Amino acid sequence: MQVLCKASSAAGDIQCSVCGQNFQVYWERTNPAEREAAREQILSALAEQHTSNHGTDAHKACFNVPEWNGSPRYSGAALLGNAPKAAFQAA
Ligand SMILES: [Zn+2]
Repeated sequence: MQVLCKASSAAGDIQCSVCGQNFQVYWERTNPAEREAAREQILSALAEQHTSNHGTDAHKACFNVPEWNGSPRYSGAALLGNAPKAAFQAA
């Protein structure tokens, strides 16, 4: 399953364990067990972003987990979260 994460200044659905950044999470599925499994996946993806993106901007404003480099039109989660196209074009 794929989710869309959007950085949020307000309290979000999930919080990065490294920097404390809050994210709103848009789920493709609503099954609670799947959400719980995905939560673990998101948290490790967030931590991984700190390792791979050195510097202060570890997180993009908007990204998919698992990582999705295609067009948002092919991602159900991106469509649900109304992801801005630009978020996917930025490196
Ligand atoms: Zn972080």
